[in-house]
Amino acid sequence: MAGEPQADCLFCKIVAGDVPATVVRETETTVAFRDINPQAPTHILVIPKVHYPDAAGLAAAEPAVAADVLREAGEVAAEEKAESYRIVFNTGTGAGQTVFHAHAHVLGGRGLQWPPG
Ligand code: AMP
Ligand code: ZN
Repeated sequence: MAGEPQADCLFCKIVAGDVPATVVRETETTVAFRDINPQAPTHILVIPKVHYPDAAGLAAAEPAVAADVLREAGEVAAEEKAESYRIVFNTGTGAGQTVFHAHAHVLGGRGLQWPPG
């Protein structure tokens, strides 16, 4: 069924507590944890507890949870005292997506170039 945990998904394992993560916030529908390979002083991933391969698929199927992810991204940035920050959803291998469970990267704590690479 759509949204069900996938046995071979790293982020579903983090949601289940089967893989450890440095969790900074958790809600009924989301988990936020530090990226294992940070690209900025603040680099936190916000994921829905439900499994969808990418953010647009999540938004189409469960728009309220997609909104929860965005709201939590803002809460994380506030907790990190990041005045300016970037929310990134890499979508597809060509854009650098390596984990196919929707996730928002929250990046901050340094200047961020625009346009991005
Ligand atoms: P993406 O490349 O957009 O799919 O993002 C996946 C992110 O997950 C990368 O930034 C990785 O560094 C991060 N990552 C991979 N494994 C872990 C893990 N066990 N705990 C935290 N972050 C992870
Ligand atoms: Zn998953």
